[in-house]
Amino acid sequence: MKTGIISDIHGNFEALKAVLDALKKEKVDRIVCLGDVVGYGPDPNLCIDRIKQTAFATIMGNHDAAAINSISTHDFNENARIAIEWTQKVLGFEQVMFLNTLPMVFTEKDWMAVHATPKAPEAWDYIFTESQIVQNLKAMEKPICFIGHSHMPIAFIQEPNGDILVRNAEEIHFEPSKKYLINVGSVGQPRDGDPRAAYGIFDEEKRVFTLKRIPYEIPKVQEKMRVSGLPIPLIERIAEGW
Ligand code: ZN
Repeated sequence: MKTGIISDIHGNFEALKAVLDALKKEKVDRIVCLGDVVGYGPDPNLCIDRIKQTAFATIMGNHDAAAINSISTHDFNENARIAIEWTQKVLGFEQVMFLNTLPMVFTEKDWMAVHATPKAPEAWDYIFTESQIVQNLKAMEKPICFIGHSHMPIAFIQEPNGDILVRNAEEIHFEPSKKYLINVGSVGQPRDGDPRAAYGIFDEEKRVFTLKRIPYEIPKVQEKMRVSGLPIPLIERIAEGW
């Protein structure tokens, strides 16, 4: 079984299309989406419709929750809040209903996925410090957990003796004695300096995860964002990958 793992699409339909085409070429058996289908980008409805059609499972992201008013935008920065208010105005009824159905956690036999953190998915925390890494590896109910949220691909690996290794997520060979917390990066708004859309492939038989990047039509998305009146810094950042 090959599972495509994608996160943080953020209403960027061009990036989503490029990633779905790439996953088709890779012959994945299914796609799991880790949330934030909407927010920031100009095509929330198109992205929801395409995810609804193609993803085997989708979990709730904080922008999805904010778009349907199930959390406040209190913790959002100003541009993120403006984009959510715009998203709320344009979202269709069916699309709101879909976001309302999203669970907080996806669980398989030997792996799991959440949008933000396995420790407290609904707190929407980030994992940056050593103690956050340790606490989250400890909280994992499965040896492998995929996350999104920070838009920065990275892997935290815990050795059997408790030591933690931080490395890139480009190619991870899973060993049964270790624990893995892997951020799969962002489809629609990468923040690691590489503007290309990020996506992951988990080969469950071979026990290998690969993180890939694919270019997409950034100027087309920027033009749509301009027409929609979305904040300039959001338009600029997708070309910069920050
Ligand atoms: Zn996000």
